[in-house]
Amino acid sequence: MAFLTHFPVAPIHHHSSSLFTRFFLTPKPKTLLIFATLSPSHFSSTSTIIPSSSSSSSSSSSSSSSLETFQEISLPEETPLQIAQEKLFIPPDTEISSEKSPRILRGSNIVLSKYARDAQIVSAEFVKSSVETDACPSDGSPEFALVGRSNVGKSSLLNSIVKRKKLALTSKKPGKTQCINHFRINDSWYLVDLPGYGYASAPHELKQDWNKFTKDYFLNRSTLVSVFLLIDASIPAKKIDLEYASWLGQNQVPMTIVFTKCDKRKKKKNGGKHPEENVQDFQELISKYFDSVPPWIMTSSLTNQGRDEILLHMSQLRNYWLNH
Ligand code: GDP
Repeated sequence: MAFLTHFPVAPIHHHSSSLFTRFFLTPKPKTLLIFATLSPSHFSSTSTIIPSSSSSSSSSSSSSSSLETFQEISLPEETPLQIAQEKLFIPPDTEISSEKSPRILRGSNIVLSKYARDAQIVSAEFVKSSVETDACPSDGSPEFALVGRSNVGKSSLLNSIVKRKKLALTSKKPGKTQCINHFRINDSWYLVDLPGYGYASAPHELKQDWNKFTKDYFLNRSTLVSVFLLIDASIPAKKIDLEYASWLGQNQVPMTIVFTKCDKRKKKKNGGKHPEENVQDFQELISKYFDSVPPWIMTSSLTNQGRDEILLHMSQLRNYWLNH
């Protein structure tokens, strides 16, 4: 496989912040639009690339999961997203050319790479709650941290990902909501539940403490492959979410934006918008904080939209990380 010439040749360290900052591509703008409708079950198919002037759409929809381990999921009909090539997230060590259409995860801007494999979850267990980075598990396994405003749907998403109704409740037990909670997946990697932020009735000083230790975790956890920042797509962008995203961007912490509650489609009064519009608005608002476009993905814990896609994205980041 030919490599893009602007991939760095310097050795890659396992430190998390190097993964995206080194490999975020800033492709030259091209007049291509890509319909991001590929579901994981369409691995053999290709996404559609058309000139940006065209308004035709492709259709690709499947209700089955390709991850095999669990029962079929039913995904609602989705409007294909049109994504310009320069707005795609191209994983490291991945070739993209106009001759060969990229494979894009449905409801996201994420191009699939050769590292996407072993995505299914076979086992998940709660391991420990930590109050500081140094107390976190030290076996060196890669991990993904879920964080978001209180009520964004973090516990629901975590449960949807591991398909266990009660697993994330462990982190909701008294005394654990302010901790770094580690869940071991397939005995080989971790999902990490971080304290929700912006909880209105939390005393100011307590909020400060959360900020302090989660920031320390983001900056110093060497096995952190990517933060998954959860954003509620059923409402317009909140200031605190924009601040969080900009902090991560400015500190070059690898980040994937997970838009939650994408099933909530009803237009609200007072200019409420559809999830797709909120998703677009949010990206425009944070774009100035990022050198290149971060990966994002639309989800719903109600319909399981995005579940397989999240797992595939995690698998390709994880496998790349493990190989470098
Ligand atoms: P957390 O505080 O971030 O852990 O949020 P929860 O997972 O407890 O969810 C907060 C509220 O949002 C609950 O009432 C959930 O039922 C609801 N919720 C969570 N995820 C979704 C979703 O994907 N779609 C819809 N419609 N509601 C959701």
